[in-house]
Amino acid sequence: MVGNFHPIRVQTMTTTDTMDTIATVDQTIRCIEAGAELVRITAPSRREAENLLNIKNELRKRGYDTPLVADIHFTPNAAEIAARIVEKVRVNPGNYVDKKKFELIEYTDADYVEEIERIRERFIPLVKICKEYGTAMRIGTNHGSLSDRIMSRYGDTPIGMVESAMEFLRIARNQSYHNVVLSMKSSNPQVMVQAYRLLVRTMFDEFGECYPLHLGVTEAGDGEDGRIKSAIGIGSLLEDGLGDTIRVSLTEDPELEIPVCRDMVKRYQQQGNGNEQSTIPAVVKIPYSPFEYKRRETFAVNNIGGHHVPVVIADLSKLPSIGPKDLQSIGYTYDEVTDKWTISDTAADYVFTGHTILNFPLPGTLKVIVYPATWLLAEDKTKYIPIFDDRGYAKAEFKSNEINFVMLDCFTTANGLPDDVNAGYLDVVANDPAVVLCLSSLHSHPMTAVRRMFIDLMNRTIQNPVVLIVDSNWHTTDEHLIHYATEAGALLLDGMGEGVCFGMTQESYKMQIANFRQVSGRNYLQSQSVEQFINNTAFSVLQATRTRISKTEYISCPSCGRTLFDLQETTAKIRAVTNHLKGVKIAIMGCIVNGPGEMADADFGYVGSGPGKITLYKGKEVVKRNVPSEIAVEELVNLLKENDVWIASQQILQNI
Ligand code: SF4
Repeated sequence: MVGNFHPIRVQTMTTTDTMDTIATVDQTIRCIEAGAELVRITAPSRREAENLLNIKNELRKRGYDTPLVADIHFTPNAAEIAARIVEKVRVNPGNYVDKKKFELIEYTDADYVEEIERIRERFIPLVKICKEYGTAMRIGTNHGSLSDRIMSRYGDTPIGMVESAMEFLRIARNQSYHNVVLSMKSSNPQVMVQAYRLLVRTMFDEFGECYPLHLGVTEAGDGEDGRIKSAIGIGSLLEDGLGDTIRVSLTEDPELEIPVCRDMVKRYQQQGNGNEQSTIPAVVKIPYSPFEYKRRETFAVNNIGGHHVPVVIADLSKLPSIGPKDLQSIGYTYDEVTDKWTISDTAADYVFTGHTILNFPLPGTLKVIVYPATWLLAEDKTKYIPIFDDRGYAKAEFKSNEINFVMLDCFTTANGLPDDVNAGYLDVVANDPAVVLCLSSLHSHPMTAVRRMFIDLMNRTIQNPVVLIVDSNWHTTDEHLIHYATEAGALLLDGMGEGVCFGMTQESYKMQIANFRQVSGRNYLQSQSVEQFINNTAFSVLQATRTRISKTEYISCPSCGRTLFDLQETTAKIRAVTNHLKGVKIAIMGCIVNGPGEMADADFGYVGSGPGKITLYKGKEVVKRNVPSEIAVEELVNLLKENDVWIASQQILQNI
């Protein structure tokens, strides 16, 4: 059961060849054992669709009755076979009837109606089979594979994605078929979140009701980045109260996706029945559009706010002492011999040390945030900045003329109501040109509480820049990643936040240190310390929300039965040679059938085009066809060089 307040279901998709019955059954069982409540299997042609029966029978024989979903692209015939066998079929409205030619065509209204009629003819037989067999259907739009018709009329926009699904949904409803789930996936969390929200509004406006939603970020990649991207997209919507089933698409074994899904879902299972939201005042009218990105207007205090990219504040206050070596974890490497600092692209902009004044000269761009009493003792006030609580700032005798951080708790208790005590202090700091607000909340729905405070700021035209303070009291690395990505990502996607500062409660911090000591607990992580992990996460969240680009972006498909090479190994190889190319987007896609369409806005594409063959793309354009896979990574590097985006890795180090 999906939707209508049933628990949020978690699912994944097999990566085996669907014709290999035993391999597919074994992998499906591993996914089910990990907790998958639905398992999707690709059916690229009639043969695979027919083989779903053998797979299903073998699973039932082994005692597994988890619903199976057939994944269909381009082949209505396969869908019609699969719909008689499995519990659900997924169709992609971008390619179910239309063959994509990447053509922009002028459609008159009459042409458009004619095309819809063509879809009806091809789609209604499937709807009828689904009705007869009690089979469910997902109308699954992908940002990267919209039909030429939709692209010509709407472009690759959220509204185009919504319309793509609505064309099919209207036909299904017209046939009185309602066993439907919808999805609006994109590899860009911002597009994906806007499209789902728009879909919900469109369904309510048109039908007065809403069908269940399946949430996912496509081609999210692997490791930390894949988890963060997924959590930002899926988590933001779950925070909105949207989403009935989820899939995290990682370029990893499918059973590894399930614990990540479960970590996302359990955040809402633990938050009770919603009554605790009552301390957050209701919103009458939101002063921003949830359907498009627009950064909140702020003035700049130092390098925070205004036109500056969001800053990262590293919290080193839990270290027993701080020496030059400790700054390495946040992007500053000190060379004793030359007495110089090397700054990486992911170097924190500020560091919070609590009560500690550092006893060594700081790298040029780094500033230190300390408590007010410590700030008074600091000799170089250009390097040290005080952080107050709101009451402390209101009453402080000494403040910085240039920049002060002021912490504000948002609606943790009913005392946080706008016309209450906090609001009194808010008046003191409002539009003070030397104040950066630091918003956080101990409310059980902290993101919602902080977002509510942003609404107050906007309604009252308070334009101080804001740093999002997110503390995590979770236990595992994935739980922390998901927490930071959801709490900060959901706000950044709506243009809220001019900086981030992530931290952990004392207990979580100790636990995370212990996790890092066990090599097995670190698995995919590249971080060497808790501080490095948090710093990397902060930059990854900014990158995934596209608010600050500091590294290469990878769009890699999760792989499936169509995949023509080892995606995990190849992704790792490509990452190893290109991960210093800040801002370049590289797609690594398993097949030529869906890959080019689904690699979205990647700058370069590495796509499997046949056994042992790779086709390289620049944007959507093929530049090297059928390159032998042994030399394909090298050829990709050559392509990057030919296009002047390649730099040797040592060139990026910057000495000061
Ligand atoms: S792009 Fe990847 S996941 Fe999508 S169909 Fe091709 S191989 Fe499968």
